[in-house]
Amino acid sequence: MIHVKGLTKRFDELEVLSGVDCDVTESEVVCVIGPSGSGKSTFLRCLNLLEEISGGEAVVNGHDLRDPKTDINALRTEVGMVFQRFNLFSHKSVIDNIMLAPVKVRKLKKKEASDIALVLLEKVGLQDKAGVFPHQLSGGQMQRVAIARALAMNPKIMLFDEPTSALDPELVGEVLSVMKTLAREGMTMIVVTHEMGFAREVADRVVFMDKGKIVEEASPDDMFNRPQHERTQEFLSKIL
Ligand code: ADP
Ligand code: MG
Repeated sequence: MIHVKGLTKRFDELEVLSGVDCDVTESEVVCVIGPSGSGKSTFLRCLNLLEEISGGEAVVNGHDLRDPKTDINALRTEVGMVFQRFNLFSHKSVIDNIMLAPVKVRKLKKKEASDIALVLLEKVGLQDKAGVFPHQLSGGQMQRVAIARALAMNPKIMLFDEPTSALDPELVGEVLSVMKTLAREGMTMIVVTHEMGFAREVADRVVFMDKGKIVEEASPDDMFNRPQHERTQEFLSKIL
């Protein structure tokens, strides 16, 4: 689903990704960990062309990201993204937030989009919140709406960038639980996270990034119990 080789990203003089290699197969869940500033968000943003890549190969669900003819809208329909901040439209109700892109981009009829939105709201446990506005929701509820909104495009891949980092601790579990369900259903996912419990339980593979490179990748068991690289050991000793 994702093939990345020698990926580089520069912002002017600053090289932020220095040759990232990463392949993700269908239904795989890859968790990305690493210190702040190591390039995790930039890596995810490159995968759906929120950032233009500077060099190397990147093919996502058959779209060659180096090819100027790549259809960015098609790519973004197939690759859903959920950020740390929820980015819901504050002046729109929950259901309108979820219906917006399916109607505008997928050209679904309103009725069809609202049927899908209601199914997705049930999936994230918010079927009773369709008509409310974002400010009436908790952070965990907003983030579950953001996930439902991404799913409404029927993506093949989901990218999560620290989806629980802005939440009060007691709200983290409800969001992780929705993500676990998605993983169990076979969604292909890359998840940047500091939730090591989630990574241990759900990840097929954990990737440790530092200074724009993947330093180590391993099964959760190996990564957390037998990290090989000194920098991985140092990072994990600080957070575990
Ligand atoms: P992480 O998500 O691992 O914390 P980021 O990918 O956000 O790391 O950032 C990696 C580096 O790239 C940081 O040094 C950051 O300041 C820099 N960076 C990110 N976005 C931009 C940008 N739009 N312009 C310039 N520098 C950026
Ligand atoms: Mg980040």
